[in-house]
Amino acid sequence: MNATIETPGPAATSDDRLLRDQSAAKALLMGEILEENLFPYPTISERDREVLGMIIDSVERFLSGKEADFAHMDREARQPPEFIQSLRELGLFGLIIPEEFGGLALSNAAYARVLAQTSAHDSSVSLTIGAHSSIGMKGLLLFGSDEQKARYLPRLATGEMIAAFCLTESGAGSDAAAIRTRAGRNADGSWTLNGEKIWITNGAIADFYTVFARTDGPEGKITAFLVEAGWPGVSHGPHEDKMGIRASSTAAVAFNDVRVPPENVLGEVGKGFKVAMGILNNGRTGLGGGAVGGMKALIRLVVAQAQGRQQFGRPIAEFGLVREKIAQMTVDCFAAESAVWMVAHYIDSGCEDYSTEAAITKVFASDVLQRATYEALQVAGGNGFMRGVPYEQYVRDARIMPIFEGANEILRLFIALSALKDVGDSLKELQSALRSVFNDPIKGFGVLSGYAGTRISRATGLGADSIRTPLAPGLRPLGAIYQAYARAAARVAEATLRRHGKAISDQQYVLKRIADLMIDLFVGLCVMSRANALIATDPASAADVQKIAEVFTHQARRRMVRNIRGAAQNEDRAIDGLAQSVLDRGAYGWDVL
Ligand SMILES: Cc1cc2nc3c(=O)[nH]c(=O)nc-3n(C[C@H](O)[C@H](O)[C@H](O)COP(=O)(O)OP(=O)(O)OC[C@H]3O[C@@H](n4cnc5c(N)ncnc54)[C@H](O)[C@@H]3O)c2cc1C
Repeated sequence: MNATIETPGPAATSDDRLLRDQSAAKALLMGEILEENLFPYPTISERDREVLGMIIDSVERFLSGKEADFAHMDREARQPPEFIQSLRELGLFGLIIPEEFGGLALSNAAYARVLAQTSAHDSSVSLTIGAHSSIGMKGLLLFGSDEQKARYLPRLATGEMIAAFCLTESGAGSDAAAIRTRAGRNADGSWTLNGEKIWITNGAIADFYTVFARTDGPEGKITAFLVEAGWPGVSHGPHEDKMGIRASSTAAVAFNDVRVPPENVLGEVGKGFKVAMGILNNGRTGLGGGAVGGMKALIRLVVAQAQGRQQFGRPIAEFGLVREKIAQMTVDCFAAESAVWMVAHYIDSGCEDYSTEAAITKVFASDVLQRATYEALQVAGGNGFMRGVPYEQYVRDARIMPIFEGANEILRLFIALSALKDVGDSLKELQSALRSVFNDPIKGFGVLSGYAGTRISRATGLGADSIRTPLAPGLRPLGAIYQAYARAAARVAEATLRRHGKAISDQQYVLKRIADLMIDLFVGLCVMSRANALIATDPASAADVQKIAEVFTHQARRRMVRNIRGAAQNEDRAIDGLAQSVLDRGAYGWDVL
């Protein structure tokens, strides 16, 4: 099948509009809505549309009707080799590999769309493909030399080689920089690799590993290597017996005196941590696409369940508390979808500063997917709790999402700290700009056009006070809400920095509130942008899209109010003290009897 998909021309970005290479999410914490990067909502390129049409059709034909097979693979905790062979024949291992190496050269946006399609059928399928493309061989695509690409990409494109990403170790999970796998340089320039990685997706079926090892030396601490599974000293453990995504391979991978030739260093020696973070940031939209696909499948299931199940003489779909769940799942799905494809577009357009937005989509999409699986099972009632119907598997499969590829707690800290760093830098610039205004008014006022201008207009109430993009009439009052709360968030950010200074990195309760403010603002603006485009182009769905934008924005506003008020008034001390006392006791200490 791989050979039969004729791809029309080179990949194009989905939109020719020039984006500012500046982070829209981080700008929000400075009170600025970077409209160039948010409006209008990006459209899909002709090429993506054509290629996607072919892939989605063939994927759909292959995966649909296989519910019993997926349930069986889940129970058996494995994908049979002939099933993986079919994934190869569908071309699913070459989705993002350039055509010159035999791949389909999909953009990030189109790739996320394919993962949404596979996730609507089975999460383990998405994991097998996603771990290969999003993280396993993504480093080779992003940081590999021409020679390395020519050597490996053709075999990775056909799936002759399956890839895996080997970072985590027993002592190094969230703290990935603490890895102990070591690579020592030999006299002939080769390296000797020793150590063990755990919980590696595709670990037991991969032929190609991107491995991170400590290489203490003048160049730095960690280096990335391309390692073949067939080399002497490479071995893997058995498939892990997991709660969810059971059919996808997860295994420990061990390296025992493995000789790695010098030409298999990926990127620069000592720059491996940057390589690892670059891969994870770039791969996050694939995960978001998967979450969206899962939510769409759940919405279909829940609608059928709510209409088919009668209680009190009526279909349960008539009860407000069931309808509320269906509406919430729809709003969540639309919001996640809007943000994931906005960020995919940033990556496809060559923006470099998208790591904060990528983290936001991962946190948001994985959080709302949890809610969707929980609520879908609730609508199915006792039936949902039984094996043999898909709800319980959805709950199990989705549970990994907030844990891997950056635990959501860590990503929230990253979102807030990366934006606060920019605020801090800008405050310093503002200080020196204000000094220049007095020393050299012409030069000084020139500098004031950016952050300082926004800040002064915020402080004085003068200047830009509404989104300049023409919004549909129904969306205008919602736009004003984002404008107001971006300014409020900026005030909180400044006050926070003044209060805590460098110690801010330890203020996790404060950082979580800031991250959640940024998530609501960024995702909300993606919803607004998409709603604005849909209302203009699709009158039939305009009324529903308006409702989605209203529900999301008003819910987000209430959360933002709470997070902004929480900056001044909160129970952080009590919570922290209570946690300490339970930690000291070692257990809950207040039995009634
Ligand atoms: C099914 C599965 C597949 C995986 N696939 C891969 C793979 O292909 N390649 C790979 O390299 N790894 C993989 N992993 C590993 C995964 O990325 C890690 O599990 C993840 O990074 C979290 O690390 P940990 O499990 O050690 O949790 P820990 O780091 O021990 O964290 C435990 C909890 O503490 C919280 N926490 C930790 N530090 C802080 C902090 N500073 N502040 C606040 N909270 C904190 C975390 O958020 C989390 O809630 C996989 C894991 C699983 C379960």
